[in-house]
Amino acid sequence: MPKPGELTFVAPRGAKPPRHLADLSPAERKEAVAELGEQPFRAKQLSNHYFGRMSNDPASWTDIPAASREKLTESLLPELMKVVRHVSCDDDATRKTLWRLFDGTLVESVLMRYPDRVTMCISSQAGCGMNCPFCATGQAGLTRNLSTAEIVEQIAAGMRDLKTGEVPGGEARLSNVVFMGMGEPLANYNRVLASIRRLTDPAPDGFGLSQRGITVSTVGLVPAMHRFADEGLSCRLALSLHAPDDELRDELVPVNTRWKVAEVLDAAWNYAEKSGRRISIEYALIKDINDQAWRADLLGRLIKGKRVHVNLIPLNPTPGSKWTASRPEDEREFVRRLQAHGVPTTVRDTRGQEIDGACGQLAAAG
Ligand code: SAH
Repeated sequence: MPKPGELTFVAPRGAKPPRHLADLSPAERKEAVAELGEQPFRAKQLSNHYFGRMSNDPASWTDIPAASREKLTESLLPELMKVVRHVSCDDDATRKTLWRLFDGTLVESVLMRYPDRVTMCISSQAGCGMNCPFCATGQAGLTRNLSTAEIVEQIAAGMRDLKTGEVPGGEARLSNVVFMGMGEPLANYNRVLASIRRLTDPAPDGFGLSQRGITVSTVGLVPAMHRFADEGLSCRLALSLHAPDDELRDELVPVNTRWKVAEVLDAAWNYAEKSGRRISIEYALIKDINDQAWRADLLGRLIKGKRVHVNLIPLNPTPGSKWTASRPEDEREFVRRLQAHGVPTTVRDTRGQEIDGACGQLAAAG
């Protein structure tokens, strides 16, 4: 929760985040620079600093004359967000950042270090309109979409802090990005897609991260899933299924009343085929709600033989929730039954629990 005084400035409702270099494609950057009366090649120089060198300190960009630098910085590199605070746990291997955006909106990102990789979990919207009853973010509704640059800056800031060794644990490189923070990424489609381009375009156009290291997680917006499949990307798609039957899924993931389990799975298989990537099925195990052995069998029958992997997430109870995580023996049986159908299944580790940085807990604005 914000502390008193943290929300000092609130922009008028509906005001747009300022334009930023990371909102723009390489061609748009050239145009924007030319409109400022600067040589178009300055766009490449800016990109080289921001994306290639991961620098956000224009004072060090000495290949650009000071006067131009000031003009370009003012118009293309506004400060989009301020760190309200970082909170760490898991022996400093997990760091959650609370950001305040230009209009006072609060969003969060989480950086997780593992022995072999570094993953950032980022937000695509402030709040979320999908209303899943077990998710903390869903309870407060949608505040607004984040701009492309507001999405990118969460990662850019994490990469800069990793590079300078500011994140506990020493210097490292970011390898994975998951759109599993606040918001439904496919409900903010164009901006999320543009952010993926900024992250994965080779430097200096973008950060040059591997598409394979990026996971977009969705409640199952079927038309957007089809559109995403046609983008020709090799990102991973995670589908938040949480129930194999429409009756229960209608309750746990309300958008299921619009697009049913069968349709959502079809859209997922289409993505798997076009991208060549396994679908990751997300399933939060909720005690006595969706963790029965028969539901494991039903799920197994629905997805066996497909290019798929199941990620079981022990439910993180949200404050005041009537639901809790499954009993260990039920969790084990659920895993066993899926595996008996030949479905690769893992139980996700729940990083960041004590700093409210775990799945579905990113509720700073709530
Ligand atoms: N809107 C997207 C991405 C954000 S949530 C989506 O729903 O996929 C990322 C994952 O965390 C989703 O699978 C979501 O269902 C899950 N999640 C949300 N709240 C949770 C909770 N309290 N416990 C466990 N998982 C949760």
